[in-house]
Amino acid sequence: MTSSEQLYQRGLKALPGGVNSPVRAMRSIGRDPIFIASGYGSHIRDVDGNDYVDWVGSWGPLILGHAHPDVTKAVTESVRRGTTFGAPTEGEVRLAELIAERIPSVEMLRMTSSGTEATMSALRLARAVTGRDRILKFAGGYHGHVDGLLSEAGSGLATQGIPASPGVPAAAAAETVTVPFNDPEALDNALKEHRFAAAIVEPVPANMGVVPAAEGFFKQLQEGIHANGGLLIADEVITGFRVHFNGGQAYTGLEPDLTVMGKIIGGGLPAGAVGGSRELLERFAPAGDVYQAGTLSGNPLAVAAGLATLAKLEPDAYVRLEALTARLVEGFAKAPNLSVGSVPGLLTPFFRAQAPTRYAEAAECDQEAYGAFARALLARGVYPPASQFEAWFPSLAHTDADVDRTLAAVAEALEELA
Ligand SMILES: *Cc1c(COP(=O)(O)O)cnc(C)c1O
Repeated sequence: MTSSEQLYQRGLKALPGGVNSPVRAMRSIGRDPIFIASGYGSHIRDVDGNDYVDWVGSWGPLILGHAHPDVTKAVTESVRRGTTFGAPTEGEVRLAELIAERIPSVEMLRMTSSGTEATMSALRLARAVTGRDRILKFAGGYHGHVDGLLSEAGSGLATQGIPASPGVPAAAAAETVTVPFNDPEALDNALKEHRFAAAIVEPVPANMGVVPAAEGFFKQLQEGIHANGGLLIADEVITGFRVHFNGGQAYTGLEPDLTVMGKIIGGGLPAGAVGGSRELLERFAPAGDVYQAGTLSGNPLAVAAGLATLAKLEPDAYVRLEALTARLVEGFAKAPNLSVGSVPGLLTPFFRAQAPTRYAEAAECDQEAYGAFARALLARGVYPPASQFEAWFPSLAHTDADVDRTLAAVAEALEELA
């Protein structure tokens, strides 16, 4: 047995499915999980000493790659001064100021320890502000494992083919209206039929694979939800500081009332945030009456990692990320059985003739083929997302040599499949 196999056997007795988050188990690509020992730059090494070009990057946070020297230094310096105080620190103010400078719709923010908590808090705020309960979301959109947002969610739920989850109260599920993405008529009908507290959307949906919005769809959503009397929540947990210097909303022209962030802003440590106008954010306690709290919210280590990460993300970083993404997209697009969904910094090769425009189409992809493809890549030292419904995450640590090695492995893997 390999060391990964041994750890998995032990893990199965100590952790449900051997993991702490479902997609890590690699079940949907038909194999057992790989236990990772270390990562540096664009590469990771497993406990058996195998080296991989990593296209997952911990599912989004690691836009600078693993163990970036600046992040390591910032976290190391911070940890020496103590790990948490349950009292405010300077770094939190600086991080909030920096994010507010970059994201036009954000004047203030409240930090959390995860993206899930941030979306949960944003919904509470929207409900308090509007006095309404109902939420509009899109099929295939993933917004963390919040009860009311698990209906027809992407990411791990899509991977396992489960429309919702047992354990979600019927009352919570009933307050969520799910609409197909890029379907103007369905959106119009939902907006006519219900009075919403908010609509929540990823500026670039990336949890059913990468599926950008069709021309005009976000304009309809934004005008429609405002006419309805609800707020627009942009879930930028993935897109925030990945697809554009000023956030996914600048890339897509979305003008949300509330923005949810996570992943990159924690630089690889646990962090999330809800941002928006001063007027809305000051409804949060203690400025206002909407309760929201967290022992480790705005944790000094996470804030140090986030600040060090954002410091590296100058406009030229996005030019490099875009060029890197384009080379991968070009390579994938050459394969006859693949289509590609992409924006700068995010891409998904789909085993489908045409790139999907909504979840029902993404679900038609040949998942068996994706599984065989992913296994063949792993055997060649390339680590892809272990699901057809997740994005590939290029980082600034990836080199042209990494792309060459990946595309060579892709060509071999596709040949093996055929
Ligand atoms: C990852 C993700 C979340 C949840 O963040 P966690 O930190 O995993 O709780 C929410 N929304 C989107 C778009 C995500 O990709």
